[in-house]
Amino acid sequence: MSADEPPVPRIVVPAGGIGGARFLRGLLAATASPDGSPGADVTVIGNTGDDITLFGLRVCPDLDTVMYTLGGGIHEEQGWGRSDETFVVKEELAAYGVGPAWFGLGDRDIATHVVRTQMLDAGYPLGQVTEALCARWGLPRLGVRLLPMSDDRVETHVVIDTPGGSPPRRAVHFQEYWVRLHAEPVAHEVVAVGADAAAPAPGVVEAIRDADVVLFPPSNPVVSIGTVLAVPGLREALAGTGAPVVGLSPLVGGAPVRGMADKVLAAIGVDSTAEAVALHYGSRADGGLLDGWLVDEVDAAAVATVEAAGIACRAVDLLMPDVGRAAAMARAALDLAGELRTRRST
Ligand code: GDP
Ligand code: CA
Repeated sequence: MSADEPPVPRIVVPAGGIGGARFLRGLLAATASPDGSPGADVTVIGNTGDDITLFGLRVCPDLDTVMYTLGGGIHEEQGWGRSDETFVVKEELAAYGVGPAWFGLGDRDIATHVVRTQMLDAGYPLGQVTEALCARWGLPRLGVRLLPMSDDRVETHVVIDTPGGSPPRRAVHFQEYWVRLHAEPVAHEVVAVGADAAAPAPGVVEAIRDADVVLFPPSNPVVSIGTVLAVPGLREALAGTGAPVVGLSPLVGGAPVRGMADKVLAAIGVDSTAEAVALHYGSRADGGLLDGWLVDEVDAAAVATVEAAGIACRAVDLLMPDVGRAAAMARAALDLAGELRTRRST
């Protein structure tokens, strides 16, 4: 780092749930000082399009996945929800015949939603509520600030086929499509309801403006990053930042590493390949979002195509089975960002 830069890099990461959270854990490991203290000032812009009200409780799945993962409370194998979880409340609700039964709300997790709902009902904006929840999980000590993309309500809906049904198509909440229907019905459209009228949460635009690096983790390009980008002002802030913007592909070998991103990519007409997603985001030189892009080694053949579109591209290991490999991915992304910055300033 050159002498005129701040000693601690300011890194901004728009993120969804699992892919975003695992990458962020790697990023913290990659940037930590030898004594373990934080080596970066990380602002996460969390997707809130997945949020849903269940049993009167406001649930923010992606914010919580990031918070639990970084705070050490995540159910590791599952990738979402609390470790050491029990489901007594869920069983009791089912005994009353009160659903939905398809959404796995555990007892420990419910406490988070009770606190959130209580604070929202008292009039606190979601950003402040999230800050209060994150304090318990020690995120400030890790150098992490988790911001919702917006304090305003934005809800991702998916327009699906209803075979034999009338009407033939209907819009369902993203959670119903993803969790209850396992993304099986054909999706025709993904709509961020309310996004048009939403404003970026306090701190979001400023963080992007003041960033040294912006990283797109391997989050879902449609229903995680796509939803964040649907908030008016965010795209413009990214286009205007002086920081290099580098993304990592959530697709490896022509398929999502986990989950069903291929289904929602098809709904917006984008192939499920690392290069198609890069071209979908586009080169900043052409009014798009990316300066750099990382693909997995198995997709090395895509490098030339992505570079031809004006996006610097490298092939590296993009699998995150453990923190060590996620940290190596983060280092590769920071290295590419550093290279791009040097290239720009010379
Ligand atoms: P969600 O909100 O929980 O679905 O999480 P995200 O949107 O943040 O991330 C989902 C994406 O993470 C999926 O499209 C996966 O393909 C991607 N993903 C999960 N694990 C890995 C991994 O080890 N490597 C890469 N490159 N992508 C991953
Ligand atoms: Ca999500």
